[in-house]
Amino acid sequence: MKGLLMRCASCKRYTLQREKCPHCGGAVKSPHPPRYSPHDKYAMYRLKARLEGEEG
Ligand SMILES: [Zn+2]
Repeated sequence: MKGLLMRCASCKRYTLQREKCPHCGGAVKSPHPPRYSPHDKYAMYRLKARLEGEEG
């Protein structure tokens, strides 16, 4: 499911189109940035491991 739904950067409407918005023709992009998520539990584990590692 992740990455299936795109969102128009112009009119903010959701679409399944990946190249351009069918509503206004604007550029679409993923509403879920793949680089980092505050809800990524693995990122939390990495941060925790890094902080603990710096102590020792
Ligand atoms: Zn649009």
